[in-house]
Formats: sequence, structure tokens, C-alpha cells
Amino acid sequence: MSAPTFVFPPAPQASIAVAGDTKSYPVRRIWCVGRNYLEHIREMGNDERALPFFFAKHADMIEPDGATIPYPPLTKDFHHEVELIVAMKSGGLNIPAARANEHIYGYAVGIDLTRRDLQLASRKKERPWEIGKSFDHSAPCGAMQPASKIGHPTKGKIWLSVNGTERQKGDLTELIWSVPEIIEKLSEQVSLGAGDIIMTGTPAGVAALSPGDKIECGIDGIGTLKVSIGKPE
Ligand code: MN
Repeated sequence: MSAPTFVFPPAPQASIAVAGDTKSYPVRRIWCVGRNYLEHIREMGNDERALPFFFAKHADMIEPDGATIPYPPLTKDFHHEVELIVAMKSGGLNIPAARANEHIYGYAVGIDLTRRDLQLASRKKERPWEIGKSFDHSAPCGAMQPASKIGHPTKGKIWLSVNGTERQKGDLTELIWSVPEIIEKLSEQVSLGAGDIIMTGTPAGVAALSPGDKIECGIDGIGTLKVSIGKPE
């Protein structure tokens, strides 16, 4: 079979800048961990001992450092969730935690933007979370740091401020499920591969955003990310 041709041009490849490199990291899929910091599970009133679970965003929802993100439609409670992003360079099914780091390309700081009112309404109705989690511009992500340069961080402050006031603060040591454990668990349900990134959950302090807000967030040893919230599209 010859390579397919298309009835219209395919969408551009989603990507994330790589720190210190002219080449970018091509994004295939975005996986997200539902709950992974104790204080955030408590503030949301959820079970502290539940196994991790996963939802997804689409690759074209990525936004770069410096982006202005339009206030999204349908919500009156638009929240920030700062998260450690792990990016795969290879993968497979059933990756044991002890081998997980071999498959990691690098790390970045990102925000799992959430329409909280719609997420909670769908949770109550036992419906899927897409309407609350998976929407245009919902995955801003800072520059990627290759593991070949920074290693595999297991500690470091993770924080987010809005208009200069700190709202979220935690430490990577507080992750309930470590990055290798997350990769082991997620790779039981899908075959992970190069270009898959995982948002690993958020610490406590999630709160609402408004048009005009300036968000700055970061993880010590990995980097920072700045985005602004604009008017609705
Ligand atoms: Mn999240």
C-alpha cells in the first residue's frame, strides 16, 4: 500500500518547546492523573486510598509559555491545577515501575485547566469528565527539560500564583503515586509510546480564574510557565 493522501491538509503536529534546543517535543496524547496529592483529595472531599485513575486531553489543547488563554465557554468556575508533566520517549504495555524511568524523555510544568462546575456536575451524574477537563486551550505547558540533563526529579517545590499571590503550593515528595508507579498503572490500560505526556495531579489550593488574570507557576529544578486569561473567544 502506498502512503495515504488526504482530502484536506492534516492538522499541524502539536509540540512543546525543549529548553536549550531548537528542536521541539512532538505531542501524541495527553494523559492526566485524577487525584494524586493528599491535601487536594481532602479539599475535594474524595477517597484518600483510591487507586489512581486517568482521563485524557487532546494534543491540540497544548498552549505554550506566554500564551493568552481565552476564558472558556459554558463555565462559571474555571480553575487552575499546576502539575508536573512527564514526557515519554518510548513505552509499551505493562511497564514495571522499576523500568519506567528508561522510557522518560523529560519533564515540564503544566496546568490542567478545569471547568470545575461542569466536572462536578458530570461526576454527580456518573458521566465522563470531558466537558470539565478536555476543551480548547486547556493544557498550557512550559519548556521541557530533558531527563538527560536534569535526571528524574522526586522532590522540589511545585507552586502557582495568580496576579502575584500564591495559591497552590506543594512538593513533589507529596505525590501519592510516584511517576514510575503512574507509568506502571497507566501502561496496564494503554500501550504508552513516544510523544505521550502525563499530567501527574495537582497539590491543594485550586481556585477560580477570571479574564485578565496573570498566572505564574513552576517546579524547582524544572522551570516556570506564565499564561494570562483573556476574554471569551
Ligand atoms: Mn489535574
